[in-house]
Amino acid sequence: MTDRYAVMGNPLGHTKSPFIHDRFAAATGQDIAYEAIEAPLDGFARAVDAFRSGGGKGMNVTAPFKLEAFALATECSSRAVQAGAANALLFRGNDVLAENFDGVGLVRDIESNLRFPMRDCAVLLLGAGGAARGAVPIILERGPAKLTIVNRTLSKAVSLRDQYAAFGDVACGGYADLPDNVFEIVINATSASLYGQALPIRAGLFGRTTLAYELAYGKGLTPYQQLARQAGVGRSIDGVGMLVEQAAEAFQWWRGVRPQTRSVIDAITVPIA
Ligand code: NDP
Repeated sequence: MTDRYAVMGNPLGHTKSPFIHDRFAAATGQDIAYEAIEAPLDGFARAVDAFRSGGGKGMNVTAPFKLEAFALATECSSRAVQAGAANALLFRGNDVLAENFDGVGLVRDIESNLRFPMRDCAVLLLGAGGAARGAVPIILERGPAKLTIVNRTLSKAVSLRDQYAAFGDVACGGYADLPDNVFEIVINATSASLYGQALPIRAGLFGRTTLAYELAYGKGLTPYQQLARQAGVGRSIDGVGMLVEQAAEAFQWWRGVRPQTRSVIDAITVPIA
């Protein structure tokens, strides 16, 4: 029998998740149907109930419902607890299991796909929202020399630093506090690019071998990537690989088989001129 899965968010726009999971299912011979469900902003829990009643086995969750997904779960993974948010759910009997694969998706893309080991690197993380919270513990597991977290709202960067100070060399600050040096990896985990907004950062953060990673995807050349390229950065990458890698983690969690990701990343990557 065909098992039902979905992505739930609002707005969903032209979500790539059904394409990604259809490709995974075809490649691994899994009999699943995957749909996109735009839940009402005030009706996430109801939409989840309806999907479960209709036989739904699991779902991906995207903005703005990741906190609500975490709250309605009966069992949360340590990654979901650390992030305080869930981006994948699995329904098992009366239980709702919550996971968060955003951080692992990001790190897999950087280390496995882009072949950029984070060990001993100076890493700058811009932003301290949901995606950043999920990423920090996974980045620290990779043993960077130092992780610097910068956020517009300083208190969020401070609380993230305090939460993880025991797990590595973690510094934090506001944009005005940014040190005057080059980082090996600069990750834009803010949502500024979704609105075409530039961040108050200097080109001097980027060196010739720096990896400039933009979590947003499908936005063309963002102001962040533009700055990085003008600075002559080694590589400037958007978040398509992260999207596909977190999807592969969810697929494996649901189905017990990990799909290959390379061809799917290639299929949805839009080259930036
Ligand atoms: P949140 O809303 O949780 O956090 C937004 C963050 O961006 C906050 O740190 C906020 O700062 C900061 N921010 C927003 N606007 C500005 C600005 N103009 N200047 C400086 N900082 C700003 O969003 P998420 O963490 O969920 O998402 C962040 C980004 O990551 C989005 O672009 C999203 O699309 C992308 N993403 C990509 C994924 C992928 O698979 N590729 C997966 C998940 C997210 P403050 O705290 O001060 O408000």
